[in-house]
Amino acid sequence: MRFYDFVVVGGGIAGLLSAWFLRDFNTLLIDKKEPLSGASGAAGAFLFPKVGFDSLYTRFINEGILKSVEFYKNLGVRTNTKGVLILPRDEKDIEKFKLYEKDIKLPFKKMDGGFFFEVGSVVNPDDVKKVIKVNFLQKYVKKIVRKDNFWIIDNEIKAKNIILATGYESVFDIPYINIRPIWGERIEGKADNITSLPYHFHKNCSVGEIDGIVKIGATHKRNCEWCKENFEEAYELISKANEIIDIKNFVIFDIKGGFRAASVDYFPVVGKIIDTDFTLLSDRHIVKGDMPKEIFFIEGLYIINGMGGRGFSNAYMCAKALRDYIIEGKSLEFLDTERLFIKWARKKGEEYLRRLNVKSR
Ligand SMILES: Cc1cc2nc3c(=O)[nH]c(=O)nc-3n(C[C@H](O)[C@H](O)[C@H](O)COP(=O)(O)OP(=O)(O)OC[C@H]3O[C@@H](n4cnc5c(N)ncnc54)[C@H](O)[C@@H]3O)c2cc1C
Repeated sequence: MRFYDFVVVGGGIAGLLSAWFLRDFNTLLIDKKEPLSGASGAAGAFLFPKVGFDSLYTRFINEGILKSVEFYKNLGVRTNTKGVLILPRDEKDIEKFKLYEKDIKLPFKKMDGGFFFEVGSVVNPDDVKKVIKVNFLQKYVKKIVRKDNFWIIDNEIKAKNIILATGYESVFDIPYINIRPIWGERIEGKADNITSLPYHFHKNCSVGEIDGIVKIGATHKRNCEWCKENFEEAYELISKANEIIDIKNFVIFDIKGGFRAASVDYFPVVGKIIDTDFTLLSDRHIVKGDMPKEIFFIEGLYIINGMGGRGFSNAYMCAKALRDYIIEGKSLEFLDTERLFIKWARKKGEEYLRRLNVKSR
C-alpha cells in the first residue's frame, strides 16, 4: 500500500494549491478527473477586487486579489494584468459607489463613473495547471476509513493526513459544514468589432479580452442541482456584456459551466474537522448557546472549501493559511471550522443529540 504524509482529495484550485504549499512533504493530490476540471476548469479566473464598504469580508477578498496576482506572476503563470474598471450596476449602485469611495483600501482611479484598479487581472486555468505541478493521481475516492492511526483510502492508499478539497461534492458527511452548490456559466468568443480592449470590465458580469478572445462571465443560479451548460445563459451573458461595451456579432467558441461551492456565511472554511459527536457529548450545553469548553478534532483530517465565486484568489489565501496552520501552528482566525460548528450546534445540535438518543441537559 502506498503511503503519504498528506493526501489532498479534490484537484480544483483549492486542492491543487494546498498540495503545492505542502510539496516539501510526501504529498499526493487525487481527483476523479484532471486537476482543475470541476468548477475550477469552468472559471473565467478573473482576479477583480471587490468594491464595497470596509468589512472583514471585503478586506479578505481584496488582500487575496493583491497576493494571488503576485503569486501567479512570480510562478510564471501568464497573468493578464491590464487592470479592471468596475462600474455601478444601476442608479442605486451609483449612490452606493459614492459612499464606498472612502472605504477602498486598494490603489484606484475614478473613471467613467466607476473605479479603475490596476491590479485587476485574468489568468487561465489551463496555464495555472501547466505551471503548478504536484504529485497527482487520477482516481475516484469512494471510501476513507481510519485504521491504526492512519487513513486508508479505498484500501489502496495509506495517509497520515487527509485534506478534503472536494468543492460542492463530499466524501464525508460532516453535519455542521453545509456547502451549497451555485451553478454558473461563462463564455469565450470573438466579436466583429473587438480586437483588443484597454482594460477588463466588471458590471453585471465580468468582461476580459486576451489575444483578441473575449471572455464573459458568469451567471449565478442557486438551487439548481441539475443545471448544465446552455445557450440561454450564454445569450444572457452577451446581453449583460453589451451594457458595458458595444459587442457586434459575437460568435461563441466555448461555453463552460460548473458549481461553485459556497459556505453559509460566504467565508471559506479551512482547518481541522471537529469530532461532532465527541464534542457535543462532552459538553451538551453547547446546544443551548454556551461556548464549548473544549473542541475535539479528528486527528489528521482537514478541509479547504467554500471558495465561492473567487476561487482563484481565495484558494491562494486559504491554502497558504492551511499550510501555516498545519506546519507552523498559526491561527486560521475567521476561516476556521469552529464558527460553523458553533452556529450549527445552536441551531441543530439538540435535534442531532436526540437522534443519538441523548438529552441536551
Ligand atoms: C462559471 C464559473 C465562473 C467562475 N469565475 C471565476 C472567476 O472569474 N474568478 C474566480 O476566482 N473564481 C471563479 N469561479 C469560482 C471558482 O471556479 C471556484 O471558487 C473554485 O473553482 C472552487 O475550487 P474548488 O477547488 O473548491 O472546487 P472544484 O474546482 O469544484 O474542485 C473540486 C474537485 O474535487 C473533485 N472531487 C470531488 N469528489 C471527489 C471524489 N470523491 N474523488 C476524487 N475527486 C473528487 C472534483 O472532481 C473536482 O475537481 C467561477 C466558477 C464558475 C462555475
